Amino acid sequence: MNPVLAFEWRLRRPAKAAGLFLFALLAPDPMAAQTVTVPALIPTPLHVAYTGGLLALRGRVRVMVAGEAPQRVREIAELLCNGLNENKGVSAAIGPLPSTGQPVTVALRLNRSEVGAEAYRLSIGDTVEITASDPHGLLWGVQTLLQSVETVDGTCALRRGEISDRPARRWRGLMLDPVRSWLDLAFIRRTVRVMSAYKLNVLHLHLIDDNAWRFESKAWRKCNRPGEPLYTQAELKELVIFAARYGIEIVPEFDVPGHSMTAVNAYPELDCERQPRTMNEAIFCAGRPFTWEFIDKLVAEAAEVFPSSYIHLGADEPYGIKRWATCPDCQARMKAKGVTSLEALYHTFIADLDQVAQRHGKKLIVWNDAIHPGVAPMPPKDIIIDGWVNFESVGPLAEAGYAMLNSSSGPLYLTSYGLREGLPLDAVLLWDARRFAHPRAKRGDTVLRYETLPPNAMILGGHASAWATEQRLTERRLYPRLLAVAEDLWSEGDAQDAAEFETRFNSGHLARLRRLGVPDDDALPVERLFGTAADAIVTPSAAKEGWLASKRSYRDFSLRFELPASAAGERTGVSIRCAPGAPPAGFAVMAAPPPGWIMTRGLLAANGWNHFEVVARGPVVTLTINGGLAWSVVDPAPRAGVIVLSGDGGRFQFRNVQLRDLEGQ
Ligand SMILES: [Zn+2]
Repeated sequence: MNPVLAFEWRLRRPAKAAGLFLFALLAPDPMAAQTVTVPALIPTPLHVAYTGGLLALRGRVRVMVAGEAPQRVREIAELLCNGLNENKGVSAAIGPLPSTGQPVTVALRLNRSEVGAEAYRLSIGDTVEITASDPHGLLWGVQTLLQSVETVDGTCALRRGEISDRPARRWRGLMLDPVRSWLDLAFIRRTVRVMSAYKLNVLHLHLIDDNAWRFESKAWRKCNRPGEPLYTQAELKELVIFAARYGIEIVPEFDVPGHSMTAVNAYPELDCERQPRTMNEAIFCAGRPFTWEFIDKLVAEAAEVFPSSYIHLGADEPYGIKRWATCPDCQARMKAKGVTSLEALYHTFIADLDQVAQRHGKKLIVWNDAIHPGVAPMPPKDIIIDGWVNFESVGPLAEAGYAMLNSSSGPLYLTSYGLREGLPLDAVLLWDARRFAHPRAKRGDTVLRYETLPPNAMILGGHASAWATEQRLTERRLYPRLLAVAEDLWSEGDAQDAAEFETRFNSGHLARLRRLGVPDDDALPVERLFGTAADAIVTPSAAKEGWLASKRSYRDFSLRFELPASAAGERTGVSIRCAPGAPPAGFAVMAAPPPGWIMTRGLLAANGWNHFEVVARGPVVTLTINGGLAWSVVDPAPRAGVIVLSGDGGRFQFRNVQLRDLEGQ
């Protein structure tokens, strides 16, 4: 079995009742004779010293906050109460002390003497105290406390002792891609809560790209395409506030000058030849003032919505840059800047992006392939490099003194890699922010080799990435490996093995994810279009009328199937028709994308089975092949009907055909 699939299975398996670390307590506490499980904390705190015995949380808990404490501390106290109240038999509220009963008190205090940003100390004796150097630390102390609640003989209790803790890295992130496959706000909000529970603190939202534009622009309204979902500015402002409450900073990404098909097609004057472009071909003209007016106003809008001091402007994969070599405006810029190569011209573009970001009070982040080490003039060193690919580039950029985010694609692309699910848990746990996968992982790899970033590297931290994957599948693939990334970034240096991590995960964290709203994927209705065995191979000609058809109508759906490499040639296609008996009203998805789609030609495996996934959600339909985006279209209106999978004269063999109803999800 594919180890990644095995891993999915583990996630869905019911959690074990207890972990491996069982021991009896000897302290003279009424509850001490019980055999209990050491709290299975994720991430592992820096120092844990249990002194023996348990503090029972019978009845009422009072959370105490000093009168002069900032409003943020009160807000954290509320989060603590809400979290504690999810435990059976616990009733927590913010002080004052009641006149009757003997409640357990939990005091939250800011104390600058705690060492380091985000540091906290959690002391559990007859009372509980959390002290922290700043409100972030208090929140992380609260999250550790919530993870520490055990149930012993039906009573909630905390293990007595002291935990002192602080993160290894200050940037502990997750990137979500609502562009390729729409992610709704409810999904993002519960993801924020999960991130907070595991002490991740940066949500990087990839908001615009070739395929779609998800940010409501008031300056560039033609980018807001009718019928296509986007986040309004009001929704995003609300999301920023929600995330901040959970200690999460939202950093937006607006990808320019490449990956800009939506913008170029809405405003063709952004193109060197003033014409619309196809996927991966679009690039802004470097020389025309309109390009800079467009970017400036967009960044101004972003700055208005997102208070973060950072903005990510992408700048990766400028595939259309060859056009800059022949465009008179780009050539004029080249002369004016005194440069002679396209790489150098690109560097001047990045330097000007930095100016735009600074003008709006932001620090610029770009993907590492925006900058070519050794090509003068190098862009300013205040730019932060998001290192995702190619150690030959990332290593020298770190050496040169750029601050770095490590988002090494091999271990950290958790939902897609042209690899479908990303790499197994072991590979994710072996990564930390000092290490970069090299050589680049290939499809089918389960083990990675790592290079270490140079000793002088300024590493802020790193982030996992979830590209181009349907919402429910994203969620299923993120966990528990995102928790392993949290472990890597918070507890760097304590490499955990997968078995130990899984033991901790299985000690209650699946239930925690469910409480935070992560749905049970198995609960989604699945229709198998044939047979019952997942690996059974069928040809449409063997089925009725040469089709594999669903038994009922669907509107929003996810269709997964596998085709052998031999059936996925240049001209072969798979058609899917909604509305029975009316093929013109349906839509067709080609197994092989049209030529010229650079990114997708490499998606099909030469041998073995290729995994296809078609997702229709509202008017947006996407096809991914082996986890990479192959095709995306926005129809004028959602389509509904019977889903039909047909082969070419029955020549195709399908297996593992699964149709899921996403309506209302
Ligand atoms: Zn140009």
